[in-house]
Amino acid sequence: MLYISTRGKGEGVSASQAVLSSLAGDGGLYVPKVIPTFSYSRIQSMQHKPYEEQAYQVIAPYLQDMGEKDLKESLARAYRPGKFSDPNIAPLKKAKENLFVLELWHGPTAAFKDMALQLLPHLMNSAKKKEGEKRQSLILVATSGDTGKAALEGFKDVEKTRVLVFFPEDGVSELQKRQMVSQKGDNVRVIGVKGNFDDAQKGVKKIFSDPSLGGIMEQAGYMFSSANSINWGRLMPQMVYYFTAYAQLLRQGAIRDGETFNVVVPTGNFGNILAGYYARKMGLPIHRLICASNANRVLADFINTGKYDIRRDFIKTMSPSMDILVSSNLERLLYDISEQDAEEVSDWMSSLQRKRHYQIGGDMLKKIQRTFYGGCADEEDTRKAIRELFAKTGYLMDPHTAVGYHVYQDYVKDCGNERCTVLLSTASPFKFPASVMKALKPDGIFCRKDEFALLKELRNESKQEIPLNLLSLEERQVLHDQTCSPDNMGEMVRELLVDNNE
Ligand SMILES: *Cc1c(COP(=O)(O)O)cnc(C)c1O
Repeated sequence: MLYISTRGKGEGVSASQAVLSSLAGDGGLYVPKVIPTFSYSRIQSMQHKPYEEQAYQVIAPYLQDMGEKDLKESLARAYRPGKFSDPNIAPLKKAKENLFVLELWHGPTAAFKDMALQLLPHLMNSAKKKEGEKRQSLILVATSGDTGKAALEGFKDVEKTRVLVFFPEDGVSELQKRQMVSQKGDNVRVIGVKGNFDDAQKGVKKIFSDPSLGGIMEQAGYMFSSANSINWGRLMPQMVYYFTAYAQLLRQGAIRDGETFNVVVPTGNFGNILAGYYARKMGLPIHRLICASNANRVLADFINTGKYDIRRDFIKTMSPSMDILVSSNLERLLYDISEQDAEEVSDWMSSLQRKRHYQIGGDMLKKIQRTFYGGCADEEDTRKAIRELFAKTGYLMDPHTAVGYHVYQDYVKDCGNERCTVLLSTASPFKFPASVMKALKPDGIFCRKDEFALLKELRNESKQEIPLNLLSLEERQVLHDQTCSPDNMGEMVRELLVDNNE
């Protein structure tokens, strides 16, 4: 199994090399040359297997160079009992007729990033072993809120690895921030960036391609890696739960053999939903992938018009992990839909960089629309979704999931409701207590209360338990208080490498 760059330059690399280097040398993203496919009977036979084994089945064909033993051990460590608070890892719950919610937030940080970031460090270590790589890893993370903490939890105290997280200082919730700045571990550093997520992501990409930093890093005995979803190693573990969702639909008798289903995905950087696209290509009977954007509706507009246009204001919403204008992983979709036309992909990407927009052709757009439905929810839509589903069914959603629920309702209005649909729930409602309380009680006065007080109010209001990792947060000390401007991110890396060398 070879991996190639979406921009078409350079040789194919092995899976291990793709996982270690994150970004291809020409600035493109690594993709497998061919997507493996499963027969329906193979997919069907997965339904009674535990999560770990389903994960092995899905991931192994992508990691042929890694070896069965290494992958099985990595999976056992990532998903071992106790890491996730639910024995199903990603349990599927019925919300109402024909709508099921796949809860992806039972891991250590209460958001779906754990699904991949509990596994990625082990995959990287196996890859290093495989490649005879002796250098230490410097994991650079730009986070819109949840990746940072999930990467810190996944990589803390992993040997020969350091983690540097950049988060938009005023772009994350109070709880998200406390989760990150209280992180323990000898190998971690967390820095607030005076800018938004796009600034932080751009800064990290720049660091990756800065030759002078490359030299310093080489001298210090380090190599850069990324824990963002530009890294192929993030996407494989995310394909798994699309299969486990289907397995649970079958087990629960919600769907008949061979019947197709829809999946709604609250989307930001297009990583989660892209994993669903690959799962569909592998043979999983997904009918439509419903792409749900918040008020930063670049993706929804793109799916509806074929025009990707970031000449607009960046809006701070109550679903901060989706506050993104430049969705990196869309590049991988374009590459696949254009039948691996690297030249065209390069043109679109350079147009995006120079002119801040690009337009795909009509045939491409039709192909995308056959698989994807795009919709969006503004802030009021999101609040209303939380309030109404809770009032009707008792099911409580976080704001990201609620964006998905709103778009699901639009989809049903447009396309009907004869098919079973799975809504991916990407965070625990308790991770965003201020927004959720405000949604449940529009007339309540919460502005003077901090999020820790609201956490407890939400518990009382919903009569549901606060995840333990969030409950203990209030007592945690702030250990990281450094900030920098987007232009200074490279300097921060330099400092860390030089400090470390002394
Ligand atoms: C990261 C994140 C998303 C967006 O996922 P992408 O893979 O970037 O599309 C949605 N919801 C939550 C809670 C997240 O943390």
